[in-house]
Amino acid sequence: MLLATDLDGTFLGGTDADKTSLYQLIKESPDVRLVFVTGRGIRSVLGLLEDTALPRPEYIICDVGATITHFPTMMPVEPIQSGIAAKWPGEQVREKLKTVAGLLHQEAQQQYRCSYYYDAQTDIPAAQTVAASFSCDLMLSAGKYLDVLPGGVNKGYTLLKLLEVLGTSQEQVLVAGDSMNDLAMYETGLQGVVVGGAEEELLAQTAVMRHVLQASRIGAGGILEAMEKHHAFASLIDNVGLR
Ligand SMILES: [Mg+2]
Repeated sequence: MLLATDLDGTFLGGTDADKTSLYQLIKESPDVRLVFVTGRGIRSVLGLLEDTALPRPEYIICDVGATITHFPTMMPVEPIQSGIAAKWPGEQVREKLKTVAGLLHQEAQQQYRCSYYYDAQTDIPAAQTVAASFSCDLMLSAGKYLDVLPGGVNKGYTLLKLLEVLGTSQEQVLVAGDSMNDLAMYETGLQGVVVGGAEEELLAQTAVMRHVLQASRIGAGGILEAMEKHHAFASLIDNVGLR
C-alpha cells in the first residue's frame, strides 16, 4: 500500500499522540510506501527530515507537483521530471508576472513554478491572463498562496505518473490533504481523506466525491481515521491495535 500525503496541516498536523501513532505505524510497516506531496521546496522538506521522529519518505513530490525526487538517492524521477521541465516556460513567466498588481513573491525555493502570496488587493484575473499566455495554470490555496505551474501539472498529475512508474495499483493508495492545492489528488479518483481542520473551499469541492472521506480528526488523526476505513490499510490498523 502507498500513502501519498500533504505535509503542512496534514501529515505534520494534529495532536502529538496521533502523530506518534501514525509515524510509528508507518515506521513499523515495511509494506507501506510513503510519498510526501507538498507545496514546499525540497530544501525545506530536507530540513523537516532532520527530525528523526518523522518517517523517511520514499519519494518527495515538491513545488505543488512540479518536482519529484527519489529520497534515498536524491535523484529526480524520470521520465516524469523531464516531462514537467519541458512544459515550463522558464524565467520569462516570472518576469511577466512582475507586472501584476498585488503579487508578493514567496521566499520559498521554487523549481518549475512561481509562488506568491495574494490578498484582496491582488489582480488575480491579470495573473490568470499571464499564466494562460504561457500555457501555465494558476492555483490558489489556503486563502493566501498563488502558484503558477506548467499546464496540467499539479499534485494529482505527478502522483499518477509516479504510480505508473512504480506499477502500483490505484486500490492500494490513500491520498491525504487539507487545502485547495490538494484538490487535484482527489480529482484523480484515488481513495482520499480531507483531514479535520481543512480549508472550507476544499471541503465544499470534495463533499460530493464518494471516494473521499472528510475526517473529523485533525491532521495525522484524520489519516488514521481514513486508514481504518480503507480496505488495504485497515488490517494494518487492526494488527497494531490502533482501532
Ligand atoms: Mg496542507
